Amino acid sequence: MEHNDESKLCIVIVPKTKKVRRITIEPWLPKALLGGIALFSILLYFSYNWISTSTHRLEEEYEDKTYITRKLEGEIEELESIGKDKDQKISNLMASAEEAQDKIDEADLLLKDVERLQRQLEKKAGITTASRSSMVSRNLALRNLEPKKSLGDLKGVLDEKEKELENFIVEIDNRFKYLESIPNGWPAHGRLTSRFGKRRDPFGGGGKFHKGIDIANSPGTDVKAAGAGVVTFAGSKSGYGRTIEIRHNSEHSTLYAHNSKLLVKVGERVKRGQVIAKMGSTGRSTGCHLHFEVHKDGKPMDPLKMLNQ
Ligand SMILES: [Zn+2]
Repeated sequence: MEHNDESKLCIVIVPKTKKVRRITIEPWLPKALLGGIALFSILLYFSYNWISTSTHRLEEEYEDKTYITRKLEGEIEELESIGKDKDQKISNLMASAEEAQDKIDEADLLLKDVERLQRQLEKKAGITTASRSSMVSRNLALRNLEPKKSLGDLKGVLDEKEKELENFIVEIDNRFKYLESIPNGWPAHGRLTSRFGKRRDPFGGGGKFHKGIDIANSPGTDVKAAGAGVVTFAGSKSGYGRTIEIRHNSEHSTLYAHNSKLLVKVGERVKRGQVIAKMGSTGRSTGCHLHFEVHKDGKPMDPLKMLNQ
């Protein structure tokens, strides 16, 4: 190195073969270089700081967002479970509603059964009730009601039905009592020897009206009540001999004549088929037979029109 000028630096490059090269450096250049490096370092430091701060902030933001996302996910799950709960409750409610409807349908079927039975009984007993059509229409209306509405209505209908059936039972009971009282049972086994109506008097004296029928059999044959009723006469009657009279109902009464023996007393309740006397030939009689009369509204009628054929 050589010094041409003190204020200047000089770098000399010496290659092996070629000419020597000399580079002159201004004295401020190294200082400027150092200053540049320092400035660059400072810039680098600040930019690094800025980048790392930004990164950190971004990381924090990311974490925040992750947290919010997780929270939202949790809330969504909760909402879903609430939704499921509601679905369950709704399906439970629907099941209850269906159950209620089933019960209503069941009750409805039961009512129909009761009404069918009632109609059969009415038919058997020969009852015709005006209330029947209204009962059917009410039942039809019940089926068209909403479940909530019909549960209340059902109770009303059932209560009404109960009262109606109580009345019906009384009615049926009366009806059966009436049917039991009708004198349509044969009063004795035997041969029909004389019919109801005009005939020649077996004792002579011209035509005479026969107010009953004659059934002939051996003495002591059972004489039975033709229907249920109350004995109104038990004793001897002119021409009829030993006689029983029974009042059956407001319309019908019967008379059993020429008996050998009486087995019931006045005031006694008798059932249809109950033995009330023994066949004989007392009174104005040509032989052992039962003279049987049926009176309707106080007038004698043809017993054969009444008796079961
Ligand atoms: Zn007679």
